[in-house]
Order: sequence, then C-alpha cells, then structure tokens
Amino acid sequence: MSRDLPVKKNEEYILTIENMGINGEGIGRIEGYTLFISGAIPEEKVRIKVIKINKNYGYGKLMEIIEPSPYRVEPFCPYSTRCGGCQLQHLNYKAQLDYKTRLVKDAMERIAKIYDLKIHPTIGMDDLLGYRNKAQFPVGLVRDSLAIGFYAPRSHDIIDMDTCFIQHGINDDIIHIIRQFIKEYDISIYDEIKHRGIIRHIVTKVGFKSGQVMVIIVTNGSSLPHKDKLIDMLRNSIPGICSIVQNINREKTNVILGNKNITLWGKDYIVDTIGEFKFKISPLSFFQVNPVQTEILYKKALEFANLTGNEIVVDAYSGIGTISLFLAKNAKKVYSVEVVKEAGEDAKENARINDINNVEFIQGESEVVIPKLVEDGLKIDVAVVDPPRKGCDARLLDALIKANPERIVYVSCNPATLARDLRYLWDRGYKAGEVQPVDMFPFTTHVETVVLMSRV
Ligand code: SAH
Repeated sequence: MSRDLPVKKNEEYILTIENMGINGEGIGRIEGYTLFISGAIPEEKVRIKVIKINKNYGYGKLMEIIEPSPYRVEPFCPYSTRCGGCQLQHLNYKAQLDYKTRLVKDAMERIAKIYDLKIHPTIGMDDLLGYRNKAQFPVGLVRDSLAIGFYAPRSHDIIDMDTCFIQHGINDDIIHIIRQFIKEYDISIYDEIKHRGIIRHIVTKVGFKSGQVMVIIVTNGSSLPHKDKLIDMLRNSIPGICSIVQNINREKTNVILGNKNITLWGKDYIVDTIGEFKFKISPLSFFQVNPVQTEILYKKALEFANLTGNEIVVDAYSGIGTISLFLAKNAKKVYSVEVVKEAGEDAKENARINDINNVEFIQGESEVVIPKLVEDGLKIDVAVVDPPRKGCDARLLDALIKANPERIVYVSCNPATLARDLRYLWDRGYKAGEVQPVDMFPFTTHVETVVLMSRV
C-alpha cells in the first residue's frame, strides 16, 4: 500500500504546518499527503519523522522546529507536554481564540454544509490563570509511589503534580493535605486494573464569588479509615471549606462519581453567585466550570432569546436551573427539564432562594419530557437547549419543530454535534442567524458556542 505514497514510515521530512486539527495537532502536507503532527503549529517549518501511515493521511513526530511560528509561546506549566489537560499552551492566546472560531466555522461548513454564516470572533477572557472552579484529580500508584494529578493524553497514566495553573489556587493546598493524609495514615489507593484499594479520585468545587469550598473523596466502597483526621486536617488548613463529602463509586468505570454521597462534615452543597442570582450546587450537579465566562455566555443566550415578558419558554438540559432563572425574569413561564435528580432538586431550591415563581421544573430526559408536553398542547415561544457533548436527541428536535417556537437558542460544547443538529433544524424550517463562540476553556481545544436559530 505504502509504495505509492509520497512518505515512508520512519523516514524524516521537512515541511511547513498549514493548519490545526480538532485535537490541536499541526497539519502539513508532503506532495498533497496529509500529516498530523502533535505539538507543531501553523506557519512553522519543522523536521518530522513519520510514525504511522494510513491510505489518506498519516502521523508524524515533531523532531525539530526549524523556524518557529509567530504564534508560538513558551508554555507556563512544567507538565504541559505530558499532561492531557491542556493542548494549546504553546499557542498565544489570540491564536487560540482564532483557532476556536475556525473550529466552529469548519464544523458548520464540513458537517452542516452551511456556508456564509455570521460567526463572531470567539470571546476570550482577561485573567487566564486559575479560571476553573471544578477539579477532578485521579489518585493512583505510579511505580509504587503515590500519584495525584491528571491523566496523560489519551491514557490513564497519572502524571503526579503539585500544581495546576488553570485550577483555582486553593486546589494546591487541598492536594497537599490529602497527600499528607494518605502517607501519614497509609490509606490504600485504588488500582484500576485489579479494581482494589480505596481512594479513586479527589473532586473539588470552589465558589469563585462566595469563596466556599467542597472537597469530595471518591472511594471504592464505604470504608475510609481515619476520616476524622482527614476532616481535621482539611478544616485546619483550607480557608472557605464548608463541605467534605465521601462519594462511593464501586463500579469498574471511567465515570468519576458514583451515585451515593455521605456528607462527612459541613453542608452537602456549596453556594455561588452568577450575576444577580445565587445557586446551590450539590456534588452530582453540573455547574459551568468557568464562572467568569459563564456570565458572558448566559448574557448572549438571553440576548438571543430576546424575551419581552410574555413568552412561554422551554429550557432543556437545564442543570441546576441557572439559565432557567435568567430566562424566567423576562418570560411569562419557563419549563426547565433536567435528567439528574440531585441537579433538579438544586434547581427548585435555587428558584426558591432567588424568589422566582414562574419556573416549572421537570425531572426526566428532555427527549421524553418535552415531546409529551408538546403532545399535551404546550405552546412554546422560545426554546433554549444546552445538551452534553453528544448533542440533542432527534426526538427532542422533532418535538420542538412540531411546537414551532419563533426562536431556538442552542448552547453547545461540541461544534460537531451542534453542526449536525443545526442541519437537522435548518432542513425543517429554522435558519441560523448569529453564531457566538465563547472561550470557556482557555489552553484546551474545547469551545462553547451559542447560536440563534429563527423560524423562517
Ligand atoms: N444549562 C445548564 C446545564 C448544561 S450541562 C448550565 O448551563 O449549567 C448539560 C446538562 O444536561 C447536565 O446537567 C446533564 O445532567 C443534563 N442532561 C444530560 N442528558 C440529558 C437528557 N437526556 N435530558 C435532560 N437533561 C440531560
């Protein structure tokens, strides 16, 4: 097969990078043959070694940067090349934002076959370090030593680290304390392969405005020896700590949190604020990880919803009811649909704390609940959807089309499924107007997008 290709495996070549792929890899060509090169960025001349070849494209290993790209910067994190958390630290921030805008544009053109859309430049942020309010640290043994940190790219090898610059700074102290606790009391560590040992993950949530901190210890079973010592150690050294939770996950799974929580100390939730509203956040509830950019994202979604106070609005995939409450202030009534029970309960409580009385919360799958509402005759003026990465179920989209709202505001964390769903709606009478990417995840290849679709 490879005889006809212009490259050979294990040979070295020099080429100039033209573009970047969806995983942040550099893309270049040799006589028209496409090569993906991790770590290389557009406009730089590189020497590479071909490590894998397929019929239409191959992979190269970056051996030398001969002429660096004008967009290249020195990564600020010593773990950046080994950790799978950030993919774009070697790219300057303006170039990261341009890259994300292009990812959205490419998805629209390649997947949705929609051209000439009004795609605004990605909205970035000013303070780039410590932007995340939620951290999930795997705990394991690496060559018989305790490792707490993050997974290497595309693997479950844990990179041990004592700081992560994109997380809230309090995490460094939390991990330091838990490391001490594990060593001092010789607590057993979970072994993924043997499915044995106790501590699997440490999950933290921090309220950026409130300063409240939750620490969740994920264990394989209900035992957690010396937990009183752990509570003392955390309480004595972590300012703002108000909730320590043990989460039990006995499954052989990549899903981090199990279904059962035991509050070891303090409250079983933290509170944080977005805009004018307060939100209660429980261990299993989704809350946007970048609170600064969330405000911008929600503002855009509200602007696109363009409410006057008389509308019936549906908010699908509503989490703890964040978008629902903002919508409710400007609508007649909001139906808020969320599948996770704990999140739905937080949502109800959040409406109560904020004195919002015109939201009906329904627990269940959007694709089941909303078709039923429409079947029963609900008229919808505006729909907001904010699905997980796999996008909207067609049953939900069909129900929305049947209900025929004037506008659909689509909030998406995955341009590929967003493009697929926009095509589906486009073919059934909804045209995309504005597309606004927002950078919720600096230094990673992820991008959040909000789209306004209007009935033709
Ligand atoms: N709009 C919220 C949550 C967005 S994340 C916010 O901005 O915070 C997506 C949410 O969809 C999560 O809370 C997840 O639990 C929920 N979810 C996932 N699949 C669902 C489904 N089929 N039906 C309803 N909710 C679902």
